[in-house]
Amino acid sequence: MDDNLLTVKNLSVHYKIRNGWVYAVDDVNFTLKRGETMGLVGESGCGKTTTGYAVTQLLADNAYLKSNSKVVFDGTDLIKIGTYPSKQYKGYRKIDEYNPKMRSYRWKRISMIFQGAMNAFNPVYTVGDQIKEAILQHEELTDEEVRKRIEMLFDLVGIPKDRIDNYPHEYSGGMKQRAMIAMSLALSPDLIIADEPTTALDVVTQDRILGKISELQRRENVAMILITHDVSVVAEMAEKMAVMYAGHLVEKGTAREIFKETAHPYTEALLKAFPSIKGEKKRLRSIPGSPPDLANPPKGCRFAPRCPYAKDICLEKEPPVVEISPGHLSKCHFAEELYGELSGGE
Ligand code: SF4
Repeated sequence: MDDNLLTVKNLSVHYKIRNGWVYAVDDVNFTLKRGETMGLVGESGCGKTTTGYAVTQLLADNAYLKSNSKVVFDGTDLIKIGTYPSKQYKGYRKIDEYNPKMRSYRWKRISMIFQGAMNAFNPVYTVGDQIKEAILQHEELTDEEVRKRIEMLFDLVGIPKDRIDNYPHEYSGGMKQRAMIAMSLALSPDLIIADEPTTALDVVTQDRILGKISELQRRENVAMILITHDVSVVAEMAEKMAVMYAGHLVEKGTAREIFKETAHPYTEALLKAFPSIKGEKKRLRSIPGSPPDLANPPKGCRFAPRCPYAKDICLEKEPPVVEISPGHLSKCHFAEELYGELSGGE
């Protein structure tokens, strides 16, 4: 029996633009168990946010999913219930924005911590009212019961309850972020998708908030997809890690393995661009070049134009996904040769 809470299989999300398609996410596969955290990392524009939001089908109007994409959550394929075959584009499915079944999953079973919580709250309503509305959309509770729930949540995230009736502009950045976390936990979800939950906060607040998320997650056994460009956050928070480059998942495994036994040249470059988690100080290296145009991706390996290990085959043929040790996969023609040769993040 499948004991995964979430199984994402062959997920491809393409955006229709005037002159063609943007191949934002192609053939992404991963699984997540209850209580587990997976860090989804990569540079801006690599498809990590599209992948995370595809799970709840919160995507732009011009997003289409390839028909063989699967997002199985607690035994139900959400793609089957929340999308329908596109009449216009063969082989694609379109999101049914107002699908009531799918809406019952959002917030209640799968919640989100949006990027930039600073702007996620509506400025004309109090924070308490906005959390209340999210709760009442899914549960029939009296005003008193809702108030008690919000007080409990504020207590969990460390916001004094006399701030419930304040407007967002009366909160500091860190408080807004914690209020967003409170909102994401309001309906006791099984899975949280956290998109850069601490970006734009100072490091002390960041540390405090990450600690709080971990504590709540452990207490409630909530799984999390942590979308971030910051690999040090993943090292601190996640058991699993998936590295994305130009719409492809290029390496996945346990976070420990990926840091210690890096098996993909892009992961090596990404880890070199961040300070070492432990040990000596190293010179940080930016990754030369820029990611490809996803409206016209290169024919072979999408990382080839920037890869120091590229050979002729890399420019011609898309690399296969190679399992170099149980559960540790790398999408590289030379994954086996490079395994053990690349420098990791520890
Ligand atoms: Fe580099 Fe080739 Fe591997 Fe791509 S397939 S990451 S270009 S070595």
